[in-house]
Amino acid sequence: MLEVRDLQVAYGAARALWGVSLEVRSGELLCVVGPNGAGKTTLINALAGILPSSSGRIVLDGQDLTALAPHRYCEAGIALVPEGRRLFTGMTVLENLELGSYLPRPRAQRRETLAQVMEMFPVIREKLASPAGELSGGQQQMVAIARALMARPRLLLLDEPSLGLSPLIVRDLFAAIRRINAAGMSVLLVEQNVAMAMQISQRAYVLEEGRVVSEGVPQDLLARPEIVRAYLGL
Ligand code: ATP
Repeated sequence: MLEVRDLQVAYGAARALWGVSLEVRSGELLCVVGPNGAGKTTLINALAGILPSSSGRIVLDGQDLTALAPHRYCEAGIALVPEGRRLFTGMTVLENLELGSYLPRPRAQRRETLAQVMEMFPVIREKLASPAGELSGGQQQMVAIARALMARPRLLLLDEPSLGLSPLIVRDLFAAIRRINAAGMSVLLVEQNVAMAMQISQRAYVLEEGRVVSEGVPQDLLARPEIVRAYLGL
């Protein structure tokens, strides 16, 4: 559904992505892993339309998004859960969720989508009237994902959702991501928690220094000693 061809992104003179090509297939959960500074956040922000690319193509279901404004990416069906969650902490959970559905099409289905996300994340129902900043880190991450789902995307982009969360919470969170995918959502997950990301993903890309250096099904990648050494610390 998403085709990325030869994508290059630079911060001024400093190039961060050197011709990245990848595809997300319809309905799959795909992860992009790699060390600090590999370009994972740069990639996912470019795919969300908030970082311009200097060359290459981003095509969603046949529609070329490359030169479009950021809000057009959202309209086209891509929603980003940014690194660090970026909730409006002084606003209530409900207000945060409503912001996720500000575009006309999702707004028309707001009530129905809200019911769906509360079913996905029951804890959100109890916290709707609470300021988002009062929730625990794990709960805030769930609200951030729920806010992205409120836009009724076709493709969900997740940037390091496990960051700063305890292992037990990460397990719950990844179970929720798996459920979202099982309900039919295509998901691209960027993670430093390689072991967990590989466990729930159907395919993986390894990014190093702005380039894709390996790709495949997690089982095959994890059978390669250099990958296990580099990413699983074994
Ligand atoms: P991390 O997991 O640490 O966030 P990452 O794989 O997401 O790493 P990026 O944050 O995409 O990597 O960074 C890729 C490269 O781009 C790095 O060399 C980084 O220093 C550089 N970079 C990132 N953001 C900026 C910026 N705003 N200005 C200049 N250089 C940047």
